[in-house]
Amino acid sequence: MSGLRRTDTALDAQVMIVGGGPAGAVTALLLARLGWEVELVDRARFPRSKACGECLNPGGVELLAELDLLEPVLATSPAVLEGWDLALPGNGRWQPPARGRFRGGHRGLGICRRTFDAALLQQARVAGVRVREGVRVVDVRPGAPDRAAAVALVQSGETREWRRARVLIGADGLNSRVRTAVGLARPVVPPPKASLTWRIRGRGPTRAQGRLLLGPHFTVGLAPVPGPDQVHWNATLVVTGEADRQDLHRSGWPRMADALQGVPGGWTEEPAVVAGPWGSGSFHRPVSAAHRHRTLLVGDAAGYFDPLTGQGIYRALLGARLAAMTIDRGLTGGAMRRADVAALAPYGPRLVSSLRTGRWLQKTVEGVVSRSFFRQLCLGGLRYLPRASSWLIHLTGDRPPSLLPGHAPSGPLHPSQEDS
Ligand SMILES: Cc1cc2nc3c(=O)[nH]c(=O)nc-3n(C[C@H](O)[C@H](O)[C@H](O)COP(=O)(O)OP(=O)(O)OC[C@H]3O[C@@H](n4cnc5c(N)ncnc54)[C@H](O)[C@@H]3O)c2cc1C
Repeated sequence: MSGLRRTDTALDAQVMIVGGGPAGAVTALLLARLGWEVELVDRARFPRSKACGECLNPGGVELLAELDLLEPVLATSPAVLEGWDLALPGNGRWQPPARGRFRGGHRGLGICRRTFDAALLQQARVAGVRVREGVRVVDVRPGAPDRAAAVALVQSGETREWRRARVLIGADGLNSRVRTAVGLARPVVPPPKASLTWRIRGRGPTRAQGRLLLGPHFTVGLAPVPGPDQVHWNATLVVTGEADRQDLHRSGWPRMADALQGVPGGWTEEPAVVAGPWGSGSFHRPVSAAHRHRTLLVGDAAGYFDPLTGQGIYRALLGARLAAMTIDRGLTGGAMRRADVAALAPYGPRLVSSLRTGRWLQKTVEGVVSRSFFRQLCLGGLRYLPRASSWLIHLTGDRPPSLLPGHAPSGPLHPSQEDS
């Protein structure tokens, strides 16, 4: 643990964080626990909703446990996920699915982003982070060896306020303004994708598994999430292609309703929308690097590819831990130093290397799913190879040993018996 790092008089904060989602909140709280003085701003007021499939994979669950954050998340009553069913559409029904189960007793969680994100941000507050909600960042300076990083803030129509910091963290999500302002965004490459997410209620299908319906140019995800009487689900539709994207708000719900009708196991209570839709896209947000001078990008801001494999929150948590470690180990003393910039530089390459396996897997899955022939072939095969489909689901759950040193999971989510 480092000594207390207070702001020197020329700075407004040692570390300024833009964005209070999982990436920003967890970076902030880890630094605050290590004694750093941290200010976090978010344009939203929490709790706020967020377009998301709302599934935390087993890698994310393990990271939360390691960071001592699982308890406040379990207090939001998440659903426990044992794995995913993968299916193809056929004649108005879902074809019999390939069932993949997380191995080794690992579990994922069906969460509600409103309460999940608010719980993490509250932990940041408890750790001592100065949290300012309803504050939008409108301009950014990445800093230099002899110059602080700076952000221009606007709160409810007031004039701009510039805040200077020794380190700036851009954790402002998919459409990161920090990423663009400091020159780290690369041009978006097609295919264009977009999504709509609804919160629905309905009884019937087993809640132990999430479901993915993999169609030509569309994917439907269905996952159990917290809510009264265990009847709430996250239903997300992702479409590919410019025409489908343009038409999404008109055609989205009819397509979703059609897909829901065919869910294996059926409904004893008809699914009905209780909230949403929340839209998002396009998703492909490449970056040239995740670091420039005194600025680090974390979470979606550091580059995003596709929501298909549901790795986003895990990656946000992993990046948060890496950013906090790089700052705490690399920066010495309480005052700004020229050497800070060199000490922050390893963050980018380390982030790329820790996300490499997951990214490769995500691209491979996306490549297979986007081609009709391979999609049919692979899912057809996986239906008859339950072990193989479980391995696939397990790997996309970010538990391969190369990503995170494994240890036997324990606690309320992890029964001791091995999965078959
Ligand atoms: C359709 C869809 C489905 C997904 N499904 C899953 C899933 O099932 N599992 C999974 O793990 N991941 C999933 N993801 C990805 C996941 O949602 C993201 O990876 C995750 O939210 C990243 O967290 P973050 O903290 O980087 O960004 P965010 O959670 O987006 O937080 C960014 C914050 O920055 C704030 N902000 C933005 N701009 C400014 C500004 N100018 N000034 C101040 N504040 C600002 C925003 O208000 C927001 O609170 C999905 C994504 C999509 C789009």
